Amino acid sequence: MNYFPVFFDLEGQRVLVVGGGEVALRKVSLLERTGASISVVAPRIAPELLERAAAGKLTVTVRDFAPEDLDGSRLVIVATSRRAVNRWIAKLSEARNIPVNVVDDREASRFIVPAIIDRDPVLVAVSTGGTSPVLARRLRERLEAFIPAKIGDLAAWLKELRAGTRRKLRDADERRRFFEAVVDGPAARRFTLGDTRGARSIAQQLLTMSSAAPRAAGEVTLVGAGPGDPELLTLKALRALQDADVILHDRLVSDGVLDLARRDAVRICVGKAAGTLGSTQEEINALLIEHAKQGRRVVRLKGGDPFVFGRGGEELQALAAAQIAFSVVPGITAALGAAAYAGIPLTHRDHAHAVTFVTGHSQDDGVPGREPDWGALAKPGTTAVFYMGLARLDRIAARLMEHGAPAARPAAIIAQASTAQQRVILASLATLSDAVARENIESPALLVVGEVAALHASLAWFGPGAALDLSRTA
Ligand code: SAH
Repeated sequence: MNYFPVFFDLEGQRVLVVGGGEVALRKVSLLERTGASISVVAPRIAPELLERAAAGKLTVTVRDFAPEDLDGSRLVIVATSRRAVNRWIAKLSEARNIPVNVVDDREASRFIVPAIIDRDPVLVAVSTGGTSPVLARRLRERLEAFIPAKIGDLAAWLKELRAGTRRKLRDADERRRFFEAVVDGPAARRFTLGDTRGARSIAQQLLTMSSAAPRAAGEVTLVGAGPGDPELLTLKALRALQDADVILHDRLVSDGVLDLARRDAVRICVGKAAGTLGSTQEEINALLIEHAKQGRRVVRLKGGDPFVFGRGGEELQALAAAQIAFSVVPGITAALGAAAYAGIPLTHRDHAHAVTFVTGHSQDDGVPGREPDWGALAKPGTTAVFYMGLARLDRIAARLMEHGAPAARPAAIIAQASTAQQRVILASLATLSDAVARENIESPALLVVGEVAALHASLAWFGPGAALDLSRTA
């Protein structure tokens, strides 16, 4: 079930609650805070509900539900103790297009009610799509502990500040930056600690500074998105993603990573997947410059690390030439991510004292100065990691063997490293190409050549079938 999350304004709207027991009372208590006009219908009504009716907070009708009770209702909540009755009322509501919730009966409900953290006016709603109320409650408890008690007051104060910013600041971007400085900085910290005077004076200073400052210049942050698993992002990368106005990303960047970006940031995919055309490097450079010149905070998000086969250097050169401010957030490059998640240490005192990252890209074939130093890569006691080499396995293995690498040297392909789709194929230089052809391996994939690759057999820990085989150590 895919629910659409909404917050419903019920001020002055008729809400029908069918049922007069404990559950109905709980729902009524929640509804009362919305200013809804609540009607309760049931043959027996709990005393507390009757008291509230006497106080004029709701109307009660003491009898069985009748279809006319639905007339004029905006929402219906059904909480009688009889499932068949509940379902009948739900059906009638559905027929009239009135959203209905049947307590503890997700299938009969058109909408469900989330677990909430209420710090008026801040309201955090948690739903597990009706699958597990216990899980929703646990999540809520964790969030409760995490959200400052004064967050509601803080929200009310931020609303107060809005009028001043509208007068003094020039546009929506400037206002957003001001509020980010307030919320992320000492002003909000003081406020939530109870020092409202200190908070106000800091906010006032910020406002005066922002309105006097020249229009903010844009900047570009080159960010490494890591190999796939979003939890491999650095804290700085996360911050940059959440502050971005515009994100230009490669196709390699996983959806899980993009999900962590600010919701209303503009996202532009400029990626080239292997074998397809994307934007040219000149077009990408031009886009970066154009957005930055408009004063935006631009994140250029690249798979792995931006400085490892990522053309990050070329983009920064273009920015420097255009006098645009930039910074770089490194990421976990595919070789490091894949090695870790495949259980292949890239160096090891017994097997390899050096590691080389090489591109196996076809455009470098035979180009003088671009061909790797095959002799060095073929030497014993070293590890070679080939990026972009999946389509070229035959050629890479052949070159290494021509330059003296033994046919039996271990070699591994690691595809879609660090994701749920990760695959590792371990073979030797002579057999790898056939082994890969037999399996259905999808890019992106890395090739690791060297004695260390064989350690995968005993050190794999990630992915299906990777559990340690303890019988071997016995
Ligand atoms: N800047 C990136 C590399 C870009 S080149 C980095 O630092 O990782 C693209 C190549 O990276 C792919 O052809 C593949 O060889 C490798 N690659 C990227 N992500 C990968 C992943 N999750 N698993 C295996 N290889 C990956």
